[in-house]
Amino acid sequence: MDDIRRVDCFERLHKHLVRHQPDWQRRSEAIQPYRYRTQGETFFLTHLVALLSGLDEEAAEGKRRIRRIMMELDSDGGQSESLAERLVIREKALTPEKALSETQKNNLRLSRGNLARLREEIGADGRSSRDGTRAGRTPPLPLGVAFDVYLERHDNLPERIAATQRLLPCLSNLNTFRYLNRLGFPVLVPEGRSQVFLFRLGLLDRTSGAIETQLEACRVAESIAVLLKRSALEIDLWIRAYVGRVPELSPVASLCRSTPHCDACDLQTYCHYYRFRRPQVSGGTVALPIKEWRPSEQPRERLLHNGAEALQDVELLAIVLRTGTRQCNVLELARRLLEHFGSLSAIEEASIEELRKVHGIGNLKAIELKAVLELGRRLVYRPLQPGQSIESSNDVYRSYGLRLAHRKQEEFILLMLDNKNQVIREEVVSRGGLDASIVHPREVFKVAIRASAASVIFVHNHPSGDPTPSHDDFVITQRLEEAAEFLKIQVLDHVIVGAGRYYSFTDGETVDVPIETVASSDE
Ligand code: SF4
Repeated sequence: MDDIRRVDCFERLHKHLVRHQPDWQRRSEAIQPYRYRTQGETFFLTHLVALLSGLDEEAAEGKRRIRRIMMELDSDGGQSESLAERLVIREKALTPEKALSETQKNNLRLSRGNLARLREEIGADGRSSRDGTRAGRTPPLPLGVAFDVYLERHDNLPERIAATQRLLPCLSNLNTFRYLNRLGFPVLVPEGRSQVFLFRLGLLDRTSGAIETQLEACRVAESIAVLLKRSALEIDLWIRAYVGRVPELSPVASLCRSTPHCDACDLQTYCHYYRFRRPQVSGGTVALPIKEWRPSEQPRERLLHNGAEALQDVELLAIVLRTGTRQCNVLELARRLLEHFGSLSAIEEASIEELRKVHGIGNLKAIELKAVLELGRRLVYRPLQPGQSIESSNDVYRSYGLRLAHRKQEEFILLMLDNKNQVIREEVVSRGGLDASIVHPREVFKVAIRASAASVIFVHNHPSGDPTPSHDDFVITQRLEEAAEFLKIQVLDHVIVGAGRYYSFTDGETVDVPIETVASSDE
């Protein structure tokens, strides 16, 4: 997505948030004060306890339980006792239904040693306080302030994250981001849902709990912040509010959840998820033009790199159609076309006028479609060429079987041959229902005489797929044979084409020929 589209996308997102939360400005500002420096040690510990115990410090119940744990910590030693000792949280501090899991307890116990080291490393006991005075001469820095000073030494996000995890390895990757954010450091929280959102918009290549992916998500939000001249924390908050991860802003209409409410979303034109999960764009919504898709998803590019066989019918059709309409992209148009006719062979059967009835298919597109499908058909059935010898009814079926088998109306063809049984040419005598008045001997043999044919073969199809001759077929054949005899033109055969079968009047029987055999026998 280029910069202009990124800006537009996030401006739309912001407008949505403001529209649904008129008090947005005040509320969102209240969420992100740089609170840590004005708070003491309790603040530092409260968030650590909340993250490690898995309690929600925003919910009333969570707050109550955390308060109880903190009181327990206080009563465990007071100010004089070391922090590491005080952070050993006893299970009895929690209500039974929310007892700490073994892992959480271990995490907290692990933090004893880590916090002791933390005190040493960041100088919370006064040994390396900001004014450089020696241990014992000055009162210890409050842990929170000392931690702040410690992190100031690391001026970029990856290093800050690494430094925090060095001190507090009990924090998971995401909890480290959360912890720093909660303390008030300008650190984004690349939660899974935020990552999914960025991924859906094509701004992130993958989603995962790996620190690299999380840092990449932060970089994306930071780059958008630069474009919009906002702070990265603001952008992060917008994203988290949009994906429903900011309880303080619960009245906001969060759309991009695990079940996204795409119908109400203004980001549809930018969203890959929307395009692929909601291909049936309708109701006036404009789908993203194909040229704005990722190259790897565009039908032409896919054909280029994966070969034509890898493409679905709808993608091949889209390539032939080339362009869509204002209302739908070309892939959507191809899908409509297929749905309208039901299959490729039905499209091939359709007339130009019928094709034009599909909205978006004009004269030119219909003609091009017919030409391409006809080429494909000819490659399969290989029409008889002048001079080609006909030796049996099977030769006739190999040339006309695939061509006529799926026709929805009857077609009567006159095949004219010379005295060596070589093809002169063919003539379509009639289309539609066959009866004696349509296939009139005079009309049939007028053409044969003009072509100086020595012999002829009649071919027609049964749309039902059953080539068994009807009473009319016998009558017509007999009348044509009588006329031919009078004109001294030999009637070699009358072949009726069905689905995978044909009937030969000369052989006097129905022959089953699987279509695959017909196709392969031509190669
Ligand atoms: S269109 Fe749907 S999936 Fe895409 S960003 Fe909007 S809500 Fe999320």
